[in-house]
Amino acid sequence: MSAASLPALHASHSGCWLRETRNGGAGVTRPLGKGEAIMAAADTPLLLLNAPLVASRLGYPDLSGLDLLELYAFIHPARFVVPTPKGLAQALGLAEPAGDDAVPALLQAAAEALLATCEDPAWLEREGAWSAVQTLVRLRWPWAGLLAPRIAQPQRAERWLFSRLPEWEDAPERLQPAQVLLEDTAIAARLAALTGSGAEARPAQQDYARTAGAMFAPRRAARQPHIVLAQAGTGTGKTLGYLAPASLWAEQSGGTVWVSTYTKALQRQLRRESRLAFPADRALQAGRSGPPVVVRKGRENYLCLLNLEDALQGGFTGRPAIMAQLVARWAAYSQDGDMIGGDLPGWLGTLFRKRGIAALTDQRGECVYAGCPHFRKCFIERAARASVGAELVIANHALVMINAARAREPAQRPTRIIFDEGHHVFEAADSTFAAALTGAETVELRRWVIGPEGTSRGRRRGLAARLADVASYDADGARAITDAREAASALPGDGWLARILEGAPFGPLEDLLAETRALVHARDESGGQEAGYGLETEAAQLGGAFVEVAGRAQEALEALRQPLMRLGMRLEALIEEGPDWLDGPARARIEGARGAIGWRADLLAGWIGLLARLGGPGDPEFVDWLAVERSEGREWDIGLHRRYLDPMKPFAEAVLAGAHGVMMTSATLCDAADAAAGEWDSAVQRSGAPHLDVAPRLFAAPSPFNYAGQAEVLIVTDVPRGDIPALANAYGRLIEASGGGALGLFTAIRRLRAVYGRIADRLARGGLPLFAQHVDPIDTGTLVDIFRDDPRASLLGTDALRDGVDVPGHSLRLVVMEQVPWPKPSILHRARRLANRGGGQAHDDRIIRARLAQAFGRLIRSAGDRGHFVVLSSAFPSRLLSAFPPGTPVRRVTLDAALQSVAGSVSDAVLTPAPTGEIDETRA
Ligand code: SF4
Repeated sequence: MSAASLPALHASHSGCWLRETRNGGAGVTRPLGKGEAIMAAADTPLLLLNAPLVASRLGYPDLSGLDLLELYAFIHPARFVVPTPKGLAQALGLAEPAGDDAVPALLQAAAEALLATCEDPAWLEREGAWSAVQTLVRLRWPWAGLLAPRIAQPQRAERWLFSRLPEWEDAPERLQPAQVLLEDTAIAARLAALTGSGAEARPAQQDYARTAGAMFAPRRAARQPHIVLAQAGTGTGKTLGYLAPASLWAEQSGGTVWVSTYTKALQRQLRRESRLAFPADRALQAGRSGPPVVVRKGRENYLCLLNLEDALQGGFTGRPAIMAQLVARWAAYSQDGDMIGGDLPGWLGTLFRKRGIAALTDQRGECVYAGCPHFRKCFIERAARASVGAELVIANHALVMINAARAREPAQRPTRIIFDEGHHVFEAADSTFAAALTGAETVELRRWVIGPEGTSRGRRRGLAARLADVASYDADGARAITDAREAASALPGDGWLARILEGAPFGPLEDLLAETRALVHARDESGGQEAGYGLETEAAQLGGAFVEVAGRAQEALEALRQPLMRLGMRLEALIEEGPDWLDGPARARIEGARGAIGWRADLLAGWIGLLARLGGPGDPEFVDWLAVERSEGREWDIGLHRRYLDPMKPFAEAVLAGAHGVMMTSATLCDAADAAAGEWDSAVQRSGAPHLDVAPRLFAAPSPFNYAGQAEVLIVTDVPRGDIPALANAYGRLIEASGGGALGLFTAIRRLRAVYGRIADRLARGGLPLFAQHVDPIDTGTLVDIFRDDPRASLLGTDALRDGVDVPGHSLRLVVMEQVPWPKPSILHRARRLANRGGGQAHDDRIIRARLAQAFGRLIRSAGDRGHFVVLSSAFPSRLLSAFPPGTPVRRVTLDAALQSVAGSVSDAVLTPAPTGEIDETRA
């Protein structure tokens, strides 16, 4: 059957369109109501693009059909496409649809083009397709019947995925890096080569590169790394600025530089930009094996082949089984097996509406290492090995901290680290060094020790099964495993939350969680008003009964920690003894298990420490609290939490003390007010350097952009706080005035949803599509791709968008903040506020200015960008204005005046000067 004759449905906020062919004639597209569209879809499988999104537009969650995105994932696995009609047209070389009514015809043409690819001898992703489609026919995938006749059976049987993937090679042990001193002239020459400019160009970038070079000097004393703090305004060219000395040092010393980022967007950019600085042929000549640049992420990001095999062989059924087949197609063509933010389309998981993607990664640390039949092909092992020989490793802040603290091998420990997006190091350290004794965490630990219980399926195995050979060889090890298993049965198991809600907790930990919940509710001050959000209370004035229950829970945790420690020691002794059966793979497995056990024993020690303090005097180093997590009015976790008052203290020990050189860099490393006054105190404090008595080298370069001519800040004073209709009206009209291209930032999901619900249809009818985090069934990365791709689209979102969006050019020309981004008044926030030497308000102001500066930073990404930054606030304190770069025009205006300005700059593409009579607070 020709795909061009299949009926196609498109639904957007502005309406629905169906294209059908009647009586063999030409296709006709007609508009129709939502009800009729739903009936049509239920009647016969329709061509759709992004079924969950169409379903949400129709308000009919059970919609299914022939989704073009699923077909694309099959035909072109691991190839990028923006999942919109325009994006699909671009990817397939078809004409872009002129309007919504032209989309159904495009869907037909796209389906035909994709199906025709199967018959094209030049189809790049042919291998494996025939075998996959045979299985997909059995699984009743709607596309399978159309694909099967078009894919020719190969002459020779296709190799299945697990034999096709290449094996990684064991890299030789790495020599320690040579001690080299980088010459300033060499850094300048490398930078000029990378930028393609003369040595005189961009003096600020040159200074920056030279300063960055200082972190690579030989270390003079143990625990005294070179630390550089570099504030570089947007447009300084900091990426190439640090890659120049980094590539030079890696080349001359033979060592590895780690660049750490907070956002995936920057990781992607670094991957692109580092190709020039770290060419593969140079690394090869220097005798390095493997690629010169490696992106490393946490294990939970990568596909676990053993989980996939299990899913393909019956572990998944129904729609998830189809998804597993598409993931297997992708795995054969993926660059590195990265499922989260790598080359697996972010939209694939949402098409299947289940948490299937997460189930295919190694989320729970149950890897059996060399005991796994796919160990030699494992994506995670490949990335870990490649990073040892690489010149540059790109990672995120949390992974760098974890690797520095507990890497399996010293060669995997980062010693030269550049923290880009350095303003996020504090919060990354805050969560990395936190302890959370919660129901969800304890259930995970129980599963890790005991394995599947009751009716649960899957390949997961408990400790006893993973270490069966140790148990049969070593009596002490066997005893420790049995004791651990017994002790773990005191931890919460499946159904723990329901038992607590019914007032029937089981075991000492569930008792503790039940008491915690009761206490948190008893102390709730919100009067039940904030049912959508979590509740918390200080771990203070707890009372004898609570402390007693906590004591029993502490004993139960200790009863588990002891055998785990014994087991860890037995494994260590085994590795030392080296019995006959301990060949290479078995050794690798035991070493893996030893690392995993050590990590769990540390986790338990953290929890025990937290419980031991309850009822006694508080420890000034920590902030402890009890919490009930809720969302959408439903409780989903309960527990006790502990944070360091200053998380840079453990960071200094784990990361800085063992490092030789560290740089933290960002456009907003320093508070803007402090930077203007040449005041670095708070940035130095937040670097952790004082904990090692190291005086960091400081550098600051302002942005080269002409903010006075490129941007304008408008503080809109007549939208009352808390008035949702007025807020929605302001957003709607501002987006209309700018003709889309707006990023709307919210501090509460509830308000975001309310505003979206009021304006999305109206805007769509005017040809201005609106997308939103927490509303549209699309992952955040894909939402940003869609926004970037369509200059008329606008995007609403919360925190993650405040500095995870890098959209230079016309697509982003307006940023609207719903209000001043005050910090959430949590217990942790209050403790840090009290501890701040400059006073509580100074602490809050610093946080708000940082958030404003990050949000403003989304607007002007390149010298050609222009736009408006709008804050809807009737009472915006003047002291916060220093968040914006010097020279930026700032005006307090009414909404009407703001609309005029925004609309005026859209038509002129030039910003108008402030009309007289309005308050002009241009940043000097
Ligand atoms: S080695 Fe571990 S992570 Fe890799 S495929 Fe096997 S079980 Fe999964």
